[in-house]
Amino acid sequence: MRIFDPHIHMTSRTTDDYEAMRAAGVRAVVEPAFWLGQPRTAPATFSDYFDSLLGWEPFRAAQYGIAHHCTIALNPKEANDPRCLPVLDELPRWLVKDRVVAVGEIGYDAMTPAEDKALAAQLQLAADHGLPALVHTPHRDKLAGLRRTLDAVRESALGTERVLLDHLNETTVDEAKDSGCWLGFSVYPDTKMDEARMVALLKAYGPERVLVNSAADWGRSDPLKTRKVGDLMLAEGFSEDDVDRVLWRNPVEFYGMSGRLVLDVAATAPTHEGNSVLRGGE
Ligand SMILES: [Zn+2]
Repeated sequence: MRIFDPHIHMTSRTTDDYEAMRAAGVRAVVEPAFWLGQPRTAPATFSDYFDSLLGWEPFRAAQYGIAHHCTIALNPKEANDPRCLPVLDELPRWLVKDRVVAVGEIGYDAMTPAEDKALAAQLQLAADHGLPALVHTPHRDKLAGLRRTLDAVRESALGTERVLLDHLNETTVDEAKDSGCWLGFSVYPDTKMDEARMVALLKAYGPERVLVNSAADWGRSDPLKTRKVGDLMLAEGFSEDDVDRVLWRNPVEFYGMSGRLVLDVAATAPTHEGNSVLRGGE
């Protein structure tokens, strides 16, 4: 089973996770820029973070045979902090980089006017840079959040076929599917979707345009949830081709719209700016 986790925050994970992911079949990941838990107080700290998503983290992933790409954005939560907003003007500098395969994660957290502005501005940036967009849907008040998200997408210059709506569930899947956007589902240990609900949704809605991710981060989460969904799909009668479509070909097709996916990690240099994670080795 080959697996592409289209939404995982590896910065928050250990090398044990990389090792276990590789053993489970994970060969590629996309790491969206997100909120680090500790509020940022200046735009410069975004720059260092974006650099690590483009330099250090792909280097670390390559040690385990995993191709790493990222998405770049001002995240929905920090769109509410005036200290962070100037980063919006800096984003074009990052959006031209090789390993940036989408603008994201953008979207709504608390559905404030500040979030409206940041979302609209960043959907426009995606259109301007020929990139797709990874759009987070809110965890509270999900259906209202989805509708407001779809309004923003429809008002933007970006076609729905270039938008991945993430963190969907049974409440939001119908309207999301009708919109023509790609459908993302985060499978967590105790909130949002679990494997059984995910497989039930795949039975009801089919595998077209569906992406499954672990969204693993610094909270309670499991970077092997993608594999667990694949195993349950097979146990419930899906074919290996269906599993490959959901866990590999759909994410490759979506992020491939950037023209920047490089799934062969062999070319990656063994050190990053002279540093190795092999402490004392080499
Ligand atoms: Zn995330």
